[in-house]
Amino acid sequence: MADNPMLKFVGTGQSYPPKREPDSRRTDFQEIAERYAVTGAEEQASRCSQCGVPYCSVHCPLHNHIPDWLRLTAEGRLREAYQLSNMTSTMPEICGRICPQDRLCEGNCVIEFSGHGAVTIGSVEKFITDTAWEKGWVEPLVPGPERGQSVGVIGAGPAGLAAAEYMRRYGYSVHVYDRHDRAGGLLTYGIPGFKLEKEVVMRRVQRLKDGGIVFHEGFEVGHDATLDELRDRHDALLIATGVYKPRAIKAPGVGAEGVVESLDFLTASNRKGFGDTVPAFENGSLNASGKHVVVVGGGDTAMDCVRTAVRQGAKSVKCLYRRDRDNMPGSQREVANAEEEGVEFVWLSAPQSFEATGEGAGTVSAVRASRMRLGTPDASGRRAPEVDPGKDFTVDADLVIKALGFDAEDLPTLFGSSDLGVTRWGTLRVDHSTLMTSLDGVFAAGDIVRGASLVVWAIRDGRDVAEHMHGWLKQKAKTGRKAA
Ligand code: FAD
Ligand code: SF4
Ligand code: SF4
Repeated sequence: MADNPMLKFVGTGQSYPPKREPDSRRTDFQEIAERYAVTGAEEQASRCSQCGVPYCSVHCPLHNHIPDWLRLTAEGRLREAYQLSNMTSTMPEICGRICPQDRLCEGNCVIEFSGHGAVTIGSVEKFITDTAWEKGWVEPLVPGPERGQSVGVIGAGPAGLAAAEYMRRYGYSVHVYDRHDRAGGLLTYGIPGFKLEKEVVMRRVQRLKDGGIVFHEGFEVGHDATLDELRDRHDALLIATGVYKPRAIKAPGVGAEGVVESLDFLTASNRKGFGDTVPAFENGSLNASGKHVVVVGGGDTAMDCVRTAVRQGAKSVKCLYRRDRDNMPGSQREVANAEEEGVEFVWLSAPQSFEATGEGAGTVSAVRASRMRLGTPDASGRRAPEVDPGKDFTVDADLVIKALGFDAEDLPTLFGSSDLGVTRWGTLRVDHSTLMTSLDGVFAAGDIVRGASLVVWAIRDGRDVAEHMHGWLKQKAKTGRKAA
């Protein structure tokens, strides 16, 4: 009997691809993780114990066929591994890079619980599809037989792109509208290159363009067309616009020059990475170079801001977060990366006011902060932070970046569509059995339905909503029903 290539987790230790040294990372925006060599990927895949009930897949939002493509990788059948991995995901190499695997697939791997360290699923997933791109195995998007119906997708983030790809495969004419000049949503302008190099996103977008999906970039719904105008243009619409209203800090001095929004800062940096001219970067207002930078917040956006500031050549970078390390929402892996790169975390601290010098609101010069302590658990089950009196302190700051998270914009007003139903959080209300909004033939997916979430959930939502739209459109074609 042939030797079993799997179950090697006792003899073969867990090994992630090496990270570049912090000194070299600090100077550029390239990804920090190196690639597996073929043997490394095969060895790591062979650690999988091929569980009958694979909890890794259960906890992957896409329910990827993880044990099967790990086995194919271990057997050196990489092309088949790629084909299988691509059956459930439209962007496996992107998820392999940026999913918080410790909370999803790898965090639920049984050999993690047995103390041997999880299979490095995300890194193997990335390796498989990166190899496929290099070897030319990634197939073009082939549209199904033309159906004579058209679909409009508002928002070219992962939810919109995933849905667009499935709808094109079903044979619809697909038009994607995005207010940005490049597609990709937060993959392009939010997430920095050191987590996800832009070429990886752009080659996915190009594949969709080559497959006949029409992109209308620089097209803002609500400004360039109303929702009703787009409903007239298409047989069905998908709203996948994400969430972009930054949560505010209410503290004196917050209006000072030099107190900026996280996404403005990250977008400017990503634009520079594309080689664009960005006046707000060039004039220094969205540029950390030579500055004492303070980032307020403890989520993944805050982590991306501190690490971007380091790479721009900040004099110092501090992250103020009101809870402690164990109670922060951001990934521990990202905190470790940031610390290695020289970021200082000031746990249990919250801004009380922003000090400024000069005329009018002035220019920020320092943050006055309260020391916090953890009290009783709040509604989310986490211990609520409260001010620890008499322990205020001041940190120097020439640039303060607010990274407290995002809520939904007021879409009914922006779209001129008061009958578009929203929840009390401003996210779109959908019928969960159809994923349709309150408007006939108008569907929704991604962060604009769930609130700020993850790329992998956006892709899953895009896949699900495409199936519902397809069902609805087939029915419409049969009955000749017109959108209301
Ligand atoms: P988005 O990606 O936000 O895309 C929405 C698109 O709609 C945008 O392109 C926008 O321009 C467009 N749009 C909006 N309004 C209009 C309009 N009126 N007209 C036309 N177009 C419009 N998730 C992870 O899994 N891993 C990470 O490491 C990670 N890091 C993150 C870092 C940052 C800084 C941020 C902000 C988020 C991060 N996330 C991460 C979350 C993840 O990016 C989102 O959950 C995901 O992108 C949501 O996808 P979406 O398609 O719903 O929306
Ligand atoms: Fe893990 Fe994300 Fe890949 Fe699923 S998509 S297997 S959660 S890395
Ligand atoms: Fe393999 Fe871990 Fe998944 Fe089990 S849980 S199938 S060991 S990757």
